[in-house]
Amino acid sequence: MSAPDLDAIAASLNARIAPLEAPARLAALRAALPGRIIFTTSLGIEDQAITHMIATEKIDIALATLDTGRLFPEAYDVWTRTEERYGVAIAPYFPDGAAVEALVARQGVNGFYNSIEARKACCEARKVEPLARALDGAEGWIAGLRADQSDHRGALAFVTADNARGLIKLSPIFDWTRERVVDYVARHAIPVNPLHDKGFVSIGCAPCTRAILPGEPERAGRWWWEQEDKKECGLHVGPDGRLVRANAGNA
Ligand code: SF4
Repeated sequence: MSAPDLDAIAASLNARIAPLEAPARLAALRAALPGRIIFTTSLGIEDQAITHMIATEKIDIALATLDTGRLFPEAYDVWTRTEERYGVAIAPYFPDGAAVEALVARQGVNGFYNSIEARKACCEARKVEPLARALDGAEGWIAGLRADQSDHRGALAFVTADNARGLIKLSPIFDWTRERVVDYVARHAIPVNPLHDKGFVSIGCAPCTRAILPGEPERAGRWWWEQEDKKECGLHVGPDGRLVRANAGNA
């Protein structure tokens, strides 16, 4: 589909979907798109809330996660508990083995600490390329973005056109606060990563995630050794619809 068509579809869907409750937003996107819709869950608390909505409402949206090979052990535990609780399968997308072998040979197993370029190369091999495979052929992509997570994300909308990937993207809890997410998962006894209770807010790969201090922004716990304005990893797009590859993202 051409970029103008996708933009028009996204704008129309956004106007219809924005007034709805989050589960109804997911159902509305499902009804609007005939093709495959995929939710790439990070297994973090926002995404667990969305998985709960998809599973309990029995919405035909595929569940997948990117197993970078560097996740916390707790992530695998919440993955297992989620599949058991809801009777669903969360499909894993692994990095290409040869690509990771070449990466580690080139820059070392923890080479991502040495430079922004090295970190981007690691995110590219372990996250961006597997994500591209996960999204291949999909018409819709669900993400757990919230508007108040960072300045950049505040510029997005519920429904956007990802022109680089040729699909429609929905962030069904875009207008939720962190407190609302925490309250929702508690009320529904949704399985969550226990690291959230230890100050880990946005949880990604283990070596690139730390707990944050009171008053620090949520994203401060990711790639903290880099500067604040260089922190998205290519998994999401900017307001202009283009991939944000210059910075590195949430997965
Ligand atoms: S978050 Fe860290 S370990 Fe994970 S892919 Fe990116 S650089 Fe590599």
